[in-house]
Amino acid sequence: MSDITEAKRKLPLPALMLQLGLPEKHTGKNALCPFHDDHNKSFSCYQNDKGEWRWKCHTCNIGADEIDFLQHYEKLSKGDAIKRFLDLAGVERSRPPLGSAFRKVRRLRPLYSAN
Ligand SMILES: [Zn+2]
Repeated sequence: MSDITEAKRKLPLPALMLQLGLPEKHTGKNALCPFHDDHNKSFSCYQNDKGEWRWKCHTCNIGADEIDFLQHYEKLSKGDAIKRFLDLAGVERSRPPLGSAFRKVRRLRPLYSAN
């Protein structure tokens, strides 16, 4: 199972939204959109036939999965949204990006000093 699949199992979309401090009126099938001033319940949060959580706002015309929600809600890049989602779900990343970045820098250094 990938880290993201595990995180989605641990922290499904409605739980993620509550964890971000959104009130329950945003988390249902007929819900108020957290991204615009919504009075018509344009937002919906549902499970597809594969059991995956999805969200959609018919007014903003955006919607996808938990990571996409974080991207929009906290204005993150896709990569940062994935990291943030794994942190929120309490899932350890199998390859810490910081460690591999350090290793890469060390490997590149001799090349630079040769020039
Ligand atoms: Zn909206």
